[in-house]
Parts: sequence; C-alpha cells; structure tokens
Amino acid sequence: MVLKFMGSFTQQEPIPEAAIEAAIAVMRHGRLHRYNVVPGEIAETVLLEQEFAQSCGAKYCLAVASGGYALSTALRSCGLEHGDVVLTNAFTLAPVPGSIQGAGGKPIFVEITKDLVLDLDDLQLKIQSTKAKFLMLSHMRGHLVDMDALIKITDEAGVQVIEDCAHTMGANWNGVPSGRSGVVGCYSTQTFKHINSGEGGFIVTDNAEIMAQATMLSGSYMLYDSHLAGAPSNAFENIHLDTPNCSGRMDNLRAAILRPQLAELPSQAKRWNKRYYALEAGLSQISNLRLIARPKKEYFVASSFQFCLPNFNGVQMRLVVAGCDARGVQLKWFGANSPVGFTSRHDSWRYVDAQNLPNTDAILAVLLDMRIPLTLSMRDCEVISSIIKEEVEKIKL
Ligand SMILES: *Cc1c(COP(=O)(O)O)cnc(C)c1O
Repeated sequence: MVLKFMGSFTQQEPIPEAAIEAAIAVMRHGRLHRYNVVPGEIAETVLLEQEFAQSCGAKYCLAVASGGYALSTALRSCGLEHGDVVLTNAFTLAPVPGSIQGAGGKPIFVEITKDLVLDLDDLQLKIQSTKAKFLMLSHMRGHLVDMDALIKITDEAGVQVIEDCAHTMGANWNGVPSGRSGVVGCYSTQTFKHINSGEGGFIVTDNAEIMAQATMLSGSYMLYDSHLAGAPSNAFENIHLDTPNCSGRMDNLRAAILRPQLAELPSQAKRWNKRYYALEAGLSQISNLRLIARPKKEYFVASSFQFCLPNFNGVQMRLVVAGCDARGVQLKWFGANSPVGFTSRHDSWRYVDAQNLPNTDAILAVLLDMRIPLTLSMRDCEVISSIIKEEVEKIKL
C-alpha cells in the first residue's frame, strides 16, 4: 500500500483557552480601541507591548496592524526619504519589498548563500556601489546570518539595519534575541507566524526618537503618554505636529489573544524544533538531498523546513513536488516561472527594477520549502520524511 499523509500543513493549533477568555472579556466591555480606557484601566495592547519589550530586552515596543506595516513604518521612522536605496535579501517574502516600495524606498536585492542567509560579500559590494544607508535584513524562513559579522560591516559603513523577524520571533544569535542587533526589529503576528492574531505586528527599538516617530505614524493622536513601553514624552515634543497619522494600530482584541501566546512562546519553540529535528533526521537519509547547515550560535524557532536537491533540473523538481503532493505532502518550490501561493520571487516583483542575481536564482531553482504546523505529530513527521524519500529517490538522475 502506498503511504499517504492525510493531515494538513496549514492548520494551526487552536487559540489557547486563556486567550479566548481574555478576548471574550474585551468583547464584553466593548472597548476594542487601544486608547479607549476607563480610569485606572491599562489597555491589553499596552500590556502586550510591555510584555513583548521585556521578552526581547528592548526599551520600547509598539504593537501595530501587521508585520508589513511594522517594516514600512520602521523605515520611515529611521529617516528614509523618497528614492533612498534599501538593500534587502533577494530571497524573502513579498511584504518585504512591498514595505520598502510603500515607504518610498528603492529595493536593491543582495544575494543569498547556499545556507539561505544574506551573502556578506555581496552586501559589501552593494553598500559600496549604491551608497545605501539602510539594510532591511530579512531572516527569511528563520535562518540567521552571522549577526556579529553583519553588524561589523554595517556599523563601519554607517548603514542602519532594520530586522525583519517575521520568522524569528523567539530566536536568537549567540544569546542576542533576533531583532535586537539592528536599530529596529519588526515582527509579525499573522496566522502563519509564531504567535497568531490573524494579523498584527511589533516594532522594537532602544532609540526614543525612532519609537516616537513610529508611534505618531501609527496613529496615536495625542495619546502617546498612555504607552508603558513607549518613548518618553519629551521625544514627542518636536515631532507631534509634524508627523502624519498613517493609521496602523493594534487593537485590544488581538492584544488579548496574543498575551497568553507570548507567554507560551519558549515552550512552543521547543515543540517546533522537536518536529524540525525529526524531519531533519528522516531527510538526512536521502541521497542527493542537501540539508541547510545550522550554525552553533543560531537558536532558531523552526516553523518551516527547507532542503535542496542540488542535482535536479526543473522537470525533476516538478516531478518531486507533484509526486509528494499526490501523497498529501505539500512542498513549495521557489524555482517555478510564475509564483504559486506564497512563493513569489524577486523577478515576480515587477514594480522593482529588474536585477541580476545569478547565485540566488541557482539556489532557488533547487530549493524546496515546507511548513511545520504544531498540529503535526511526531508520527506525521516520520510519514512525511518517508514520502519525500521515496519520491526523491524515484527520480533517475
Ligand atoms: C509574513 C512575513 C512578513 C510580514 O507579513 P504580514 O503578513 O504583513 O504580517 C514579513 N516578512 C516575511 C519574510 C514574512 O514571511
């Protein structure tokens, strides 16, 4: 009998009961807007910001409407002006170039290495050739570049680093939480990320001016003093009448859902990684398959899994994807000519000038990607690796 996987790659765990209770309490009192509080009340959104700041050791935190909103707001708050170049990873997700474009910047892509992180040699070349002052570093699929080496390069060149931590909430490099090496860290609480409120995001920084800018931009009216993880009042004095309100606040309902999930993140991370290591052990048995090396200094939260089939051509890649799909295993291939679902690629973002990225293209041509929802059991991980093994080994090279 042919082994088939009957589960789902897109099914999250339910929202924890404590979060449901908290959400119901907010709905019962009806004050969903973060600035609508009764005397003595501290809004759920404010508490969430305080708890998130504590969890990653940041001075300031602002909760916003989405991860993409966090990214574009961070760029604007760092002083991006219309037409400024923003360097970013050539392998990332569409909201990243979208947020650069939306903030008025010009995305220039930097090659990735075969370990799926930013290529620091190409970064140096592109800092020199473009004179860029901003790097939006995308920790795509949770892979952390050598952060010490990166910050040395960007500090020397006077480049501000904005970290896209959509896939690294809860991760760290050598003990430094992801999002805390750059000037600003941005996170997403969209359903497929590490905590789930449907949509949502965070901006963290230690820089009071940047936090004040971001807070005004997010639409705080003149109520910024109610933030507990916000910039001090004096940081607003010179800007509160000069900064546009580009509404993108988080509301108390989503904040209520997120607070219990944030508390559980460290233990959830362990559960993700247990599944990751089970899949890794299974896939390491496959000839002609290359796993992605994970450096010792990297602590990751594996909500997804990537691997390469270095000797496969496009026809063979398609056969593997189709063979696995027929048996219930959904793999995503970033090498297809037109994007499917979430798999768009630098050349699918045609609002950006076409760029030559041969190394990234060669890597994406043989890269497969799989989600790891926490609803997968350990047995599921075994079944999935067996199916991938059979489908990969079926192909005659
Ligand atoms: C999901 C994601 C974001 C932000 O997404 P939102 O849907 O706007 O919250 C940013 N970068 C990457 C790499 C992502 O996957």
